[in-house]
Amino acid sequence: MTGAATDLPRVELLVTTDCPHAAATEALLRSILGESDRTASVERIYISDLDHAAGMGFRGSPTVLIDGRDVAALDGETGISLGCRLYPRADGGAGGVPPEGVIREALDAWQARRDADDARPGAREAVRELPGRALRAGFVWASQRESLERLSQRLPMTRGLVRRFVAGQDLPTTLLALERLRSAGLATTVDVLGESVDTEAAATAAADRYLEVLDALAERGLDGNVSVKLTQMGLDIDTGFCQRNVGRIVQRAEARGAFVRIDMEDHSRTDATLHIVRELYAEHGNVGAVIQSYLRRSADDVEALIAAGIRVRLCKGAYNEPASVAFASKAESDESYVRLMERLLAAGVYPGLATHDERIIGQARDFVAREGIADEQFEFQMLYGVRRDLQEALAAAGHTMRVYVPFGAEWYPYFMRRLAERPANVLFVLRTLVRDRG
Ligand SMILES: Cc1cc2nc3c(=O)[nH]c(=O)nc-3n(C[C@H](O)[C@H](O)[C@H](O)COP(=O)(O)OP(=O)(O)OC[C@H]3O[C@@H](n4cnc5c(N)ncnc54)[C@H](O)[C@@H]3O)c2cc1C
Repeated sequence: MTGAATDLPRVELLVTTDCPHAAATEALLRSILGESDRTASVERIYISDLDHAAGMGFRGSPTVLIDGRDVAALDGETGISLGCRLYPRADGGAGGVPPEGVIREALDAWQARRDADDARPGAREAVRELPGRALRAGFVWASQRESLERLSQRLPMTRGLVRRFVAGQDLPTTLLALERLRSAGLATTVDVLGESVDTEAAATAAADRYLEVLDALAERGLDGNVSVKLTQMGLDIDTGFCQRNVGRIVQRAEARGAFVRIDMEDHSRTDATLHIVRELYAEHGNVGAVIQSYLRRSADDVEALIAAGIRVRLCKGAYNEPASVAFASKAESDESYVRLMERLLAAGVYPGLATHDERIIGQARDFVAREGIADEQFEFQMLYGVRRDLQEALAAAGHTMRVYVPFGAEWYPYFMRRLAERPANVLFVLRTLVRDRG
């Protein structure tokens, strides 16, 4: 085994949903990785259209990327094809699975690049530092800048990348994505993208959009769970107005037998958000809160929500927060997550464990097994486009696995927070920029 997780190559298998070669390619990749001294998770990414394909560096199904490099850039290839990609075989024929030797060579090349980095003093550390706190802060800052948003909307390259995290720009496309997720055994919660509106008209229109979504979900017999941000519902305009506006969504959801999760935004909104959740819960019941483990106050908030019988989604937290209110290190917020998770599993009402952290997910599974907590008493939650392999594995193991599915034209702040979460996402964007210029 090679040391720490950052040392492992990122292996992505890009396929169309109906690719007949996906399973065989994935099995081959896993067996090659398994027999070498390297371990790496293989992330399967489904390609839905040409824009998405362009952003991901897709050339036809299946495409294998190791650390963002195509293992088998074929001679004479032009453009992108959403159909089968055929690889030459030793016997002169062609097949839909990349040749084993080519994958091994790509892994060796990755190792050679890594060894070369090791030979340059300080080079690897510099790379590791690069996507650290400062970069994350930069992306979260950028998520709040309107001028950058306008610029990014004009770049076709960005649109392709966005498809990885955003299910669609419109409702019909999103409904198809929801149907695909349901067929894969995954539960869902739908988020109509948008936040921080500053007029009542915009907030009212955003709530109306949710009503449409709830109706469409009910008509198609899809999962009725939705996630709502209060700044999109007018929290920054007037708390009373916001509560009435989101109340319309909760009421419609109640009539449809659906559930509304109120997302948590930055710490300046925590009190107002929890207040509105309590009020709506007292009136309707079908509403839940989100707690961020990086906030120092969260242990108290969890106790209060347990006492009130309100459902909690637990996440680590996605905003830039000052050390006065949030833990400064990742280790502390991870420890806080585990403490709060165990408390919620033991005493809470059907907690939603929202994380892609495999170590924490393992700890959750150990804890419920030890304490005799049944699968029906909690659920796992993950974001659309992130760790699809793990999502499917947890669902296959009998857990409820809910995918947070954002859609709509206002994807920019959400997308920038997703980039901020993972160094590899940032490197992926930079690589795509370089490739598109070259
Ligand atoms: C269903 C759901 C709802 C959420 N709701 C809220 C909310 O209301 N308020 C809020 O502040 N935050 C919310 N978040 C975001 C959350 O706070 C974290 O920012 C995010 O989930 C990353 O943290 P992590 O627990 O996955 O752990 P991390 O330690 O950040 O990541 C663990 C591993 O997960 C993978 N990973 C994580 N994020 C990504 C990504 N973007 N792309 C690719 N791989 C990734 C990586 O392999 C990483 O090593 C939500 C998250 C989920 C899953």
